[in-house]
Amino acid sequence: MTDEIRFRGDMTVELVKHAASDADVVWAARVSTKGESSLADVEADPERSRGLINFLMRDRHGTPFEHSTMTFYVRAPIFVFREFMRHRTFSYNEESGRYRELAPEFYVPGPSRKLVQQGKPGKYEFVEGTPEQHKLVSESTREACRQAYAAYREMLEAGVAREVARTVLPVGLYSSMYATCNARALMNFLSLRTRRDDSKFPSFPQREIEMVAEEMEREWAALMPLTHAAFEAGGRVAP
Ligand SMILES: Cc1cc2nc3c(=O)[nH]c(=O)nc-3n(C[C@H](O)[C@H](O)[C@H](O)COP(=O)(O)OP(=O)(O)OC[C@H]3O[C@@H](n4cnc5c(N)ncnc54)[C@H](O)[C@@H]3O)c2cc1C
Repeated sequence: MTDEIRFRGDMTVELVKHAASDADVVWAARVSTKGESSLADVEADPERSRGLINFLMRDRHGTPFEHSTMTFYVRAPIFVFREFMRHRTFSYNEESGRYRELAPEFYVPGPSRKLVQQGKPGKYEFVEGTPEQHKLVSESTREACRQAYAAYREMLEAGVAREVARTVLPVGLYSSMYATCNARALMNFLSLRTRRDDSKFPSFPQREIEMVAEEMEREWAALMPLTHAAFEAGGRVAP
């Protein structure tokens, strides 16, 4: 284990495994009327498939969107994971701070991160910080993380168990996990964890989880373009 501290302002999101396509939605929905179905249906008649998917989304027939699976590898700060794991329809496995020594990788907000909150809770916006505020955030965060990690290492070297020594580590430490979901669960997540002014029910997520959500959405849109388009057209409401 190297003691070299790394700071970063981005997130890692990789689609590691998937079985997800618009055909899965069509196939599942058509069992209602056909009793059997063809995975080729979506290619054979894209306009009909588009119409069916739009209808399912609009009328909130959500279950056909559950016949898909996507597994994402995510590396992000612990405070992002705390928010992420509130989404109960995902399955998770996260690296352990008991079984392995945690790597010294910490989040420091990048220059584009808006720093100042204005307005009341529930109705506020973020605006750019001054150069002095950016400098303060960057320097204070780095210094606090360095000190915390030095204390962690000191305890490990003195023979203290990993699960005890980690007490001093901050929520800006990066962790990693696999998160598996279906398209319906993902739409619920995206509706809450991305901010779009044209959403039917606009949400105001923390920017860092939104960065993760945006990457996940990009991967998903490529796999299920008709479903993604219907989600957008319907005001980003999960069916
Ligand atoms: C901007 C924002 C701010 C937030 N702030 C806070 C905060 O300050 N404090 C806090 O504690 N949380 C906060 N949360 C978390 C929030 O309360 C939800 O826990 C989180 O958004 C997950 O939403 P969900 O339950 O819809 O998702 P999931 O758990 O993924 O569930 C998906 C859907 O499944 C159904 N479902 C799942 N489980 C149940 C169940 N047990 N009973 C009935 N239906 C179920 C519901 O229809 C639900 O919408 C915040 C979330 C957002 C987006």
